[in-house]
Amino acid sequence: MAYTLPSYLSRENVGPWETYLEQVERVAPHLDKALVPWIETLRRPKRSLIVDVPIKLDSGEVAHFEGYRVHHNLSRGPGKGGIRFHPEVTLSEVMALAAWMTIKNAVVQVPYGGAKGGIRVDPKRLSLAELERLTRRYTSEINILLGPDRDIPAPDVNTNEQVMAWIMDTYSMNQGRTATGVVTGKPLSLGGSLGRRDATGRGVFVTAREAARRIGLPIEGARIAVQGFGNVGEAAARIFAEHGAKVVALQDESGSLQCDSGIDLAGLRAHCAQAGGFGGFAGAEAIPAEAFWRVPCDFLVPAAVENQITEANAGALRARIVVEGANGPTTPAADLILQERGVMVVPDVVANAGGVTVSYFEWVQDISSFFWSEAEINQRLDRIMAEAFNGIWEVAQARSLTLRTAAFVVGCSRVLEARALRGLYP
Ligand code: GLU
Repeated sequence: MAYTLPSYLSRENVGPWETYLEQVERVAPHLDKALVPWIETLRRPKRSLIVDVPIKLDSGEVAHFEGYRVHHNLSRGPGKGGIRFHPEVTLSEVMALAAWMTIKNAVVQVPYGGAKGGIRVDPKRLSLAELERLTRRYTSEINILLGPDRDIPAPDVNTNEQVMAWIMDTYSMNQGRTATGVVTGKPLSLGGSLGRRDATGRGVFVTAREAARRIGLPIEGARIAVQGFGNVGEAAARIFAEHGAKVVALQDESGSLQCDSGIDLAGLRAHCAQAGGFGGFAGAEAIPAEAFWRVPCDFLVPAAVENQITEANAGALRARIVVEGANGPTTPAADLILQERGVMVVPDVVANAGGVTVSYFEWVQDISSFFWSEAEINQRLDRIMAEAFNGIWEVAQARSLTLRTAAFVVGCSRVLEARALRGLYP
């Protein structure tokens, strides 16, 4: 494919950005002709900032880390998207994640553009004090982009409420005022929102429930396999189980587990808190990593990182519905295999949009200094997620598209409409 790449990405390191570009190629023929002249805007991030993040380690030595913050598109509002700390973070990955935020925010109609950030670091190798210094220095370096009406970060892989509190404090100290609305996913006592922690997993469940309803598949007794047992995977598994489903397989960095009668999640959480991972858990059989993908299930929820369902394993999946809790877990080649095999894929840009939806609620609550009950939040989240899924379902049915292409039709059209109405400056 003859992609136009920005000069700072070579064909060798194009990475997840290529997955995103391929998804844009697939949606292009289905967009309204009036929007086509604006498509190029989706193929380039608006701005990509690369920063050096030097910190003093506890040993007294200085270490340097590479950090990024990308604004993919701001046509519909300020930048919004998480920050991840991971040893394999690259600019290409952050660009793709920012672009998926652009589409996702449009799909659930929150008034934001798409942004994302990351630091190439293994946070498990840092002490808490080092992690704080890293977060604060990174925040200072990307400060030129941040602000409650400019760019609002949130948690992502390996970042949490504490990291968001440090970001909020660093930004606020530089402003000389407390600015709670600069970041979401904060602790409750700092303007965080009830329901935010479970929001992504809850959204995964709601879209799965709606997809299942469309094909007459009951949730009660359904078999679920989840990759990832962090903020998204753990909550999704728990909420499925609360609704009578059985979590029959789980995988994370520490191992893969199978139990046909359903894994005891509370028991596993307690085990992980003690043992630091799945190893030695007596309540399920440890299976090889590749076997996880072949476990027969109704719903497979990849809730870890990109490129997990590939040409290598897509032909062997024994799931009826894949619900993408992670961003970009399925490669374009695997998408085609799943489509051919009749496996439904509920794409990331709708399936995992529950997190940013409650981030939006948090930002609104911070701006208005008026806080909502958890029931209110969950109810509004459920409604937005169900409406977004069902809107995409209708487009997919009416135009014989996969759910991913239909979601891109819906999301890209909203972004490009805003872009066209604003026009080209100057
Ligand atoms: N990191 C999450 C995502 O990928 C949440 C982003 C947000 O709340 O801004 O959607």
